[in-house]
Amino acid sequence: MRRRSVLLATLLAATALPGLAQTPAAAPAAAPASIPAKVDPFVARLRDTALKDDMAYDLVEGLTTEVGQRLAATEAEARARSWAVAKLRAMGFRNVRVETFQMPAWVRGEETAEIVSPFAQKLVLTALGNSGATPPEGLTAPVVVFPTYNDLLAAPDGSLTSKIVYIGHAMAPSQDGSSYGAYGAARRAGPAAAARKGAVAVVIRSIGTSDNRLPHTGGTSFPAGVTPIPAAALSNPDADQLERIAARGRPVTMRLVLTPRFLGQAESGNVIAEVPGTDPGAGVVLIGGHLDSWDLGTGAIDDAAGVAITAVAAKRIMDSGRRPRRTIRVVWFGAEEVGVFGGRAYAERHPERHALTAESDFGADRIWRFETNLPAGANAVGDRLQAALAPLGIPRGAGVAGDGADVGPIMARGTAAIDLNQSGIRYFDTHHTPNDTIDRIDPEQLRQNVAAWTAMLAVVAYAPEDIGPVTPAK
Ligand code: ZN
Ligand code: ZN
Repeated sequence: MRRRSVLLATLLAATALPGLAQTPAAAPAAAPASIPAKVDPFVARLRDTALKDDMAYDLVEGLTTEVGQRLAATEAEARARSWAVAKLRAMGFRNVRVETFQMPAWVRGEETAEIVSPFAQKLVLTALGNSGATPPEGLTAPVVVFPTYNDLLAAPDGSLTSKIVYIGHAMAPSQDGSSYGAYGAARRAGPAAAARKGAVAVVIRSIGTSDNRLPHTGGTSFPAGVTPIPAAALSNPDADQLERIAARGRPVTMRLVLTPRFLGQAESGNVIAEVPGTDPGAGVVLIGGHLDSWDLGTGAIDDAAGVAITAVAAKRIMDSGRRPRRTIRVVWFGAEEVGVFGGRAYAERHPERHALTAESDFGADRIWRFETNLPAGANAVGDRLQAALAPLGIPRGAGVAGDGADVGPIMARGTAAIDLNQSGIRYFDTHHTPNDTIDRIDPEQLRQNVAAWTAMLAVVAYAPEDIGPVTPAK
């Protein structure tokens, strides 16, 4: 997933869409509480019956039990696609298909670490996606500790030759998930920055908030011209331990064994299913999540929940007895975690008009806020959505919608967007760890998600207004 900063969102709200920002209905933060507008009984009925939904939980349970982890471009992800096609057809969707694409495959190997001196002991870590490898027998080198990513950037070029770099951070839980964006650079860009300065390997404090002795994996990237070095995340308790050891002031030496491999080009794919609309000219409503997962857990909150919530909401529209005006296209994207390959492949293959897009990729906890990026001509759509979501405890935020890595390339074309923001308070306790299993999902909160998504589709897919284009949020 990808989050933009609250500050950026505020600036964009103030500058990119002045018409929207000045409309009282679009800025409830400044308005006193008012009696919610009347909701179309069709929308209200769909929303309220979705609060009793069990199908989304069953989908998450099925995918995480019958497939399990689904690392991109592996045999497991291919099995997940087959599972998805059979399931989406059985649910009654039309035009169910897989669109394949090629991408570089990366798989995990052995991963161990130990402090050699001054206090010999093992540490718990896991390789970051796209990490390079140590020799099979491992690599032993002095450790240089940087409390933050910015401290690493300030180190002189060449000063880290033959060193193992450690990067810390101070990420704390946040409801809007913005702390992930703020501190995630240590993982996304830290290894490449250390490699440029001569480091032979990098270990970071996990980008996550788990206090279990379980590391959080996640992707890193090495730009062209920077050779990947071994890069791994220590669990938070192990990062604390390394920092305590280093604080004793004696030189620290670490031995690392990391043997992930790049397997060259391999196949991944997007699984697509549709609820055909009555008006082909009105543009597609694109929703979904990502089918791939990291390989440590079973990818329940990230992102079996997202694919399940969006597909079940679409099915509820399909079964409503009224065909939507706009085609609803559900995409279960492949290969998001390792570099958003599925999202880019989809955009390349689908030049047709998209009216609106939304993605669910932030777990399964309750939705606490929604935001939009709608053109001025569709302000009434946002107002109807506000009224429909109010009984679920979901107010409208002041920012501009733009979340969802997979739908990012479609939003970048100027497609309108809606964010249904889930609470991030618990999300990064589990995110990308072996704890990402179905028992982290609260069925009651998952149902609230299904109801909100169903209500959103019931408003948007039937809207008589023209929707789009817009200025992208990012
Ligand atoms: Zn995700
Ligand atoms: Zn993820």
